[in-house]
Amino acid sequence: MQRIVEIERFEGEESVETTLRPSKWDEYIGQERIKSNLKVFIEASIKRGEALDHVLFYGPPGLGKTTLSNIIATQMSSNIKTTAAPMIEKSGDLAALLTNVEEGDILFIDEIHRLSPAVEEILYPAMEDYRLDIIIGSGPAAQAVKIDLPRFTLIGATTRAGMLSNPLRERFGMHFRMEFYSIEELSIIIKQASSKLERDIEESSALEIAKRSRGTPRIALRLLRRVRDFADVSDESKILLKTTVFALEQLGVNSVGFDEQDLKLLNLLASARGRPMGLSTVAAALSEDEGTIEDVLEPYLIANGYVEKTARGRIATVKTYEMLKLTPPNIEQGGLFE
Ligand code: ADP
Repeated sequence: MQRIVEIERFEGEESVETTLRPSKWDEYIGQERIKSNLKVFIEASIKRGEALDHVLFYGPPGLGKTTLSNIIATQMSSNIKTTAAPMIEKSGDLAALLTNVEEGDILFIDEIHRLSPAVEEILYPAMEDYRLDIIIGSGPAAQAVKIDLPRFTLIGATTRAGMLSNPLRERFGMHFRMEFYSIEELSIIIKQASSKLERDIEESSALEIAKRSRGTPRIALRLLRRVRDFADVSDESKILLKTTVFALEQLGVNSVGFDEQDLKLLNLLASARGRPMGLSTVAAALSEDEGTIEDVLEPYLIANGYVEKTARGRIATVKTYEMLKLTPPNIEQGGLFE
């Protein structure tokens, strides 16, 4: 079953996300440092009449990378073409994309760490010198062809900056790390979306949803839509706190946004009583693949101090033992060891 607090987009969720997607800076809440930097770089490139330097966004899914890229396009009055690395299988696929970009266009590639080395090779000169170097044909008749490209901006998004090859990473002029959102920021995002959905919401309801959204707008908006269903069924003109709490409990999201799967992971780590547990052991115990644990389950738990990642494995922190109402192992010797 799909987790309600899943950070990846659900199938079919794209159209509703698009409806709720901010198109202006003042509707894009939070990520202040990124916003202020981008505003300067955008203004400077508009003044110089140049394309914006290539941008790399990294961080967990659902934090607003696609949304930011769309706002950049609006601000630059540029067209944006959106794709994801798994769609670009062969170098010819990328060549086809690049020969279709126009001066000042933005090409957004999601999951950019998943490009194959052969495709990356094509991207280097395209990013650096706006040139396409391709080989047409094969064997002795093969011909190297160079095509000049218009100046475009590549925006890459990745959940795993560490998996990007160095040459690719270095070709991005700007690198931005997306941060998890505060409860206050999420609460504003929820109220804003609520008004777009033409629903009144109590301040306390917005705050309650925010607290359980794992710092992630995508989850906040999904929970809001589900809570709204409950409010609709009980014919409320305003989304009330009691309905919100009831709905969230029914959905299996606890007061800090954890669901069964998080609790399973935390209980497992706590059962090791301070001994680090390797990723492969965790994966086997939860019947999950290692990538899902690293990219999807862990980041929020680590960012909020529930899990510590050490060179020897994962450890549950004192905060986790407290939340699970378990006695923490003896920590007097400076480590979590009994
Ligand atoms: P990502 O590309 O990082 O996976 P998206 O840009 O698709 O995330 O954002 C997911 C949803 O959350 C979108 O519907 C978007 O409207 C909303 N969202 C993300 N960031 C913000 C923000 N800073 N302010 C308001 N809404 C946001």
